[in-house]
Amino acid sequence: MTYFADLAPYSYSPVPGSFPKLLHVGWLEAGHAVPAGAVDAESTDRLARLCAYAKVAVTRGRYRCHLPQCPTPFATVVVDGDDIGLGAAEIWLPGPGGVWYAAPDLIYHYVTEHDYRPPDEFLVAIHSEDAGKFTETEWRALIRADRAAQDPD
Ligand SMILES: [Zn+2]
Repeated sequence: MTYFADLAPYSYSPVPGSFPKLLHVGWLEAGHAVPAGAVDAESTDRLARLCAYAKVAVTRGRYRCHLPQCPTPFATVVVDGDDIGLGAAEIWLPGPGGVWYAAPDLIYHYVTEHDYRPPDEFLVAIHSEDAGKFTETEWRALIRADRAAQDPD
């Protein structure tokens, strides 16, 4: 993946106009320090479900983890017995005051295998009842609408 500092304004791919305060979380890469710290089991479980079932910005290619000493570069997450691949999508979820967070779905792997600790405000946001409700279908519709607005042909 490309590296972006936690809570930097999102700039990886086109941002739908309806997300003026979209921030990066968990865009880690070799050569950049990993913010480390414990994440409680409840938050890890919640993150597992979001990374398994709330994917947006799905790509055809699959990124592997590039962090040093990675035990499983082609990462997966097991939820309810399903082994689901990571590295080809993001999760977007709302925070306070119009903020949204965009994390690669590899964030689950970073937390569980590399001791990464996301910012506190993100760990709060994953427990919101609105987290996980923004779907790939909605994401694609917003991207299409924005493209149409910029290029009215
Ligand atoms: Zn890894």
